[in-house]
Amino acid sequence: MQKIFPLSEQIVSQIAAGEVIERPVYAVKELIENAIDAGADSIMVYIEESGLKKITVVDNGEGMNEEDLQECFKPHTTSKITDIDELTHIKTLGFRGEALASIAAVSMVTINSRVEVKPSGTSVILKNGKLEKIVSVGMPVGTSVTVEHLFLSHPVRKKFLRSGRSELRFILNLVLSYALSYPVIHFTLSHNKKILLDLPKTTEPATRIEKLLGKDIFASFLPVALTDSYISLSGFFAKPSVTTSSVNKQFLFINNRLVTDKGISQTIKAAYGSLLPKTAYPVCLLYISLPYEVVDVNVHPRKEFVHFVDQNFILETIRKAAAQTLAQYDLTPDINLESFFLSDAVGTTQTYAGRLLKEKSLPWKLSVQIDYQHVLQLHNLYLFALSTNGFVLIDQHAAHERILFEQLQNEFLEEKKKYDLFHFPKPKIFELSFSEAEVLVTNLTIFKDLGWEIEQFKDNSFVIRSLPVLFQDRDYIKLLREMLDDFQNDTLPKTVDDTSKRMIAYLACRAAVKAGDRLTKKQAKEIIEQLEKTANNTTCPHGRPTKVMINLENINRLFKR
Ligand code: ADP
Ligand code: MG
Repeated sequence: MQKIFPLSEQIVSQIAAGEVIERPVYAVKELIENAIDAGADSIMVYIEESGLKKITVVDNGEGMNEEDLQECFKPHTTSKITDIDELTHIKTLGFRGEALASIAAVSMVTINSRVEVKPSGTSVILKNGKLEKIVSVGMPVGTSVTVEHLFLSHPVRKKFLRSGRSELRFILNLVLSYALSYPVIHFTLSHNKKILLDLPKTTEPATRIEKLLGKDIFASFLPVALTDSYISLSGFFAKPSVTTSSVNKQFLFINNRLVTDKGISQTIKAAYGSLLPKTAYPVCLLYISLPYEVVDVNVHPRKEFVHFVDQNFILETIRKAAAQTLAQYDLTPDINLESFFLSDAVGTTQTYAGRLLKEKSLPWKLSVQIDYQHVLQLHNLYLFALSTNGFVLIDQHAAHERILFEQLQNEFLEEKKKYDLFHFPKPKIFELSFSEAEVLVTNLTIFKDLGWEIEQFKDNSFVIRSLPVLFQDRDYIKLLREMLDDFQNDTLPKTVDDTSKRMIAYLACRAAVKAGDRLTKKQAKEIIEQLEKTANNTTCPHGRPTKVMINLENINRLFKR
């Protein structure tokens, strides 16, 4: 019996749509790109229920006439390329002719459009990708596309979407990214009728960047401008003191197309080298211009990734640009390393964590005796000590991190030190970026439960009135930002307990000696001693091992004794 049959047209289009429109934010992306390609200088994005209920994008671009309007939503129809040769030098953001068809396959779509030479516009309503109704409408020149009930017929897809909040955050970040790349376009974004962004067009990109990314990041930006052979690069690299735990604050534009490129991200991180901790990424905003022929944008259905004809040359140029930019500026951090090394206790004793470490000693019985008198530091990374039946190797950073984590946690959770609050004599005002502010506003109660009394002051300015004493002599704004960064990536459940644990892990990590720090004999000895007395001492708070024991038996076996 025959078992192979072609899929129906509707199933084919829905499968294809799934690749392009995986979530609401991608529909928004395609609509914004169409508006940009249409030459609009005003793009208004209206979202309802994080895009699942309704997405409307209104532009004042060139519009479509009635004939084009009846074509635009069919699969593989485009005005942007006509023959195969054009695929090698695509200047527009769209070219695949898939977006409108894909969106229409998974939602109900209304498109209104008017061209300048016509006194009125035309409106089409599409259901299951097919024309349902066409009427003429009075409207200004341009196009508005409304997408309703995305994924209504795809309950499975809908289930996989993250919470509405994070879907909205993706959309906010997307609009923000385009706004960074196109300062000459007026962008607005509203959600459930509340205006989130309103960015009038400007010829001064710097003002827009400062507004979107926040004063702090902007102040840390080192400008870059470099041209080498056919590549030209401009934008900003942030000083290493400003970092992010994911790449979501690296804005890369290639020929004004927003892209994510692992190779470029890694190259930039490598250029910062040891200026950054292993897990941190630099913040940057980079506009790269290349001849259209040397970059292939046709490698991904959503056009997010690109291929370069000469990848090595491009990465090397970016590396050079980053390295030169960083070298031009004095990046010395504000800590006095010398006093750190000369001090006797582990860690900087001036800090709260250092003081705790000095004062605390827990009763503990050692099962394996370690010879603390003869501790060696290997390559400024590991500590080596003899034990009764072999030797032990300790990762100095991981070990110290665990020690501090346990101690701070005891203080904070068990001894209820979290109720010891530090009240600022005068409330402090601080400013965040748009997306950080958005995350903070939605999580204010969690912070409040933890003693961080913060209120929104105006847009992305906040006032802080109190915080737990533990965080008082820290760079608490930086800590807050890192927490928000994490919230944004949705990697942690947002309960009060998890959040406070996470904060403590940050503190421990920041206060701990780093890989590469040279330690005095006394410091090295204290880390080993303290580690033995600490609970959960085999791994650091992130789960990496702190120590490896190698016993004599195994060594003997190696030597076939
Ligand atoms: P692509 O952008 O890859 O060409 P789309 O499916 O996104 O494919 O759009 C199909 C066509 O519809 C575009 O080539 C363009 O001619 C037209 N179009 C879509 N959106 C707009 C708009 N906002 N303004 C003017 N024309 C548009
Ligand atoms: Mg398009």
